[in-house]
Amino acid sequence: MKKEVDIAIIGAGASGLMLAALLEEKNIVVIDNNSKIGSKILVSGGGKCNITNGKVKPSNYLGNQRFIRNVIKRFDQNDVLAWFAKRGLKPVVRKHQQYFCENSAKEVIDILRREISSKVFQLETAVQKVEKNGELFEITTNKGKIHASKVVVASGGLSFPKIGATSIGYDIAKSFDHKVNTLTAGLVGFTVQPEQFFFKSLSGIALDVRIIIGHKVIEEALLFAHKGISGPAVLDASLYWEKGKITIDFLPTVNLAMLKSSKKHVSRTLGLPSRVAKTFLQALNIEDKAANSLNREAWKKLEQLKSYSFAPAGTFGYSKAEVTKGGVTTDEIDAGSMMSRKVENLYFLGEVLDVTGELGGYNFQWAFSTAFVCAKGLE
Ligand SMILES: Cc1cc2nc3c(=O)[nH]c(=O)nc-3n(C[C@H](O)[C@H](O)[C@H](O)COP(=O)(O)OP(=O)(O)OC[C@H]3O[C@@H](n4cnc5c(N)ncnc54)[C@H](O)[C@@H]3O)c2cc1C
Repeated sequence: MKKEVDIAIIGAGASGLMLAALLEEKNIVVIDNNSKIGSKILVSGGGKCNITNGKVKPSNYLGNQRFIRNVIKRFDQNDVLAWFAKRGLKPVVRKHQQYFCENSAKEVIDILRREISSKVFQLETAVQKVEKNGELFEITTNKGKIHASKVVVASGGLSFPKIGATSIGYDIAKSFDHKVNTLTAGLVGFTVQPEQFFFKSLSGIALDVRIIIGHKVIEEALLFAHKGISGPAVLDASLYWEKGKITIDFLPTVNLAMLKSSKKHVSRTLGLPSRVAKTFLQALNIEDKAANSLNREAWKKLEQLKSYSFAPAGTFGYSKAEVTKGGVTTDEIDAGSMMSRKVENLYFLGEVLDVTGELGGYNFQWAFSTAFVCAKGLE
C-alpha cells in the first residue's frame, strides 16, 4: 500500500478526531491501530465521558502554565460545550461542574464521526515510525507506507495499552530530536506498604477524605481497593506524588475534641462506615469502648486518623492509569499552531504533550483545545 495525502493524523482519539472534524481539508488520513475510532472516549468517565468542566484554569493542569493558558483560551470549555450542543449533545452537569454525556460516551463519538468523512479513516493500522525526506514525511505502518506533507501526532499517552496506547508519539518526538520529559502513570491508584495491608480488608468501601500532598490539598472520595487505594481523591493525588509520604485526613468533618464526652462507643462517634472505624481502631490498637472512657494515650493514637501519614509503595501502573504524566516538552511547540519549533509541518496534540489535567474533564478539554489551535494553524 502506498498513499499520498496532505495531512496525516496519527490517532483517532479525542484530539485527532476533533482535528479531523474541524478541518475542511479533504485530503487527509486519520490512522489508528484500533478497529474502531475513539476507543478511549468510549471507556472514559465510567462510560459516560466527562467531556469538560465548567471551571477550567491552567492551575488544573501540570505543565507550562503560560502555554496552557494560551492554548485553552482559544477554545475553552464554553466553546467545547457550544460546539457539541450545536450538534445535538445535551450533557448533564455533575458535582464539581463536570459535564458528562447523558447516556453514553458514544454520543460524543457519534457526533465526531458525523463530522468526518468515513473515507479518511485508516484503521487497524499501527504506525511504526515517521521520517522526513525533503519536504515530505514518510510514515511507516504495519500495512505499508504513507506519504504526507504534514503530520499531526495525536497518538495519546501510555495508559490503557489494552485499548491501543503505544509509545509511538514519544518515539516520533525523540526521533526528531524533541525532548520528552519523564513519563509516569497519572490519575491512578496507589499500592501500599505492608503496614497498610489492612486497607485491603476494606476493599470496595468509599469515604470522603482530605489528602495533603506537598502544598496541595484534595477533598474528595477515597476508595479502598484490593491492590491499595483509589477513588477521585487518590487519582488527583497521584498527579502530585513522585515519592515519599502523603497525609490523609480520614475524618475531614470531625472535631475529635467534641467527641471526648460521648458515651457512645468510639467506632460509632467517628462518622465512618462501621467496618472502617473498627478496622482502623484495631490497626491503631485502640479498644472500642465508650469515648468518654478512653485515656489520653488512646486519644493521641486516634488523632492519627486526622493526619494518617504514609508513603505509598507505588501506583497501579499504566494498565489502570487514566493518563500519562510528562511528555513532549511544550518549550519546543508553538502554542499558536501546535507545530514543532524544530521540524516544519510536524504537529503534536493532546496527551502526548507534557500537559496533564486533574480529574474532572480537563484532559478531554486539553485534547479539544489543542485540536482547535492546530486546525487554525493548518488553515
Ligand atoms: C479509563 C479512562 C477514563 C478516562 N476518563 C476521562 C474523562 O472522563 N474525562 C477526561 O477529560 N479524560 C479522561 N481520560 C483521559 C482521556 O481519555 C485522555 O487524556 C484523552 O483521550 C487524550 O486524548 P488524545 O487524543 O491525546 O489521545 P487518545 O484519545 O488516547 O487517542 C490516541 C489514539 O492513538 C492510537 N494509537 C496509539 N498508538 C498508535 C500507533 N502506534 N499507531 C496507530 N494508532 C495509535 C490509540 O489507539 C488511540 O486511539 C480517561 C482515560 C482513561 C484511560
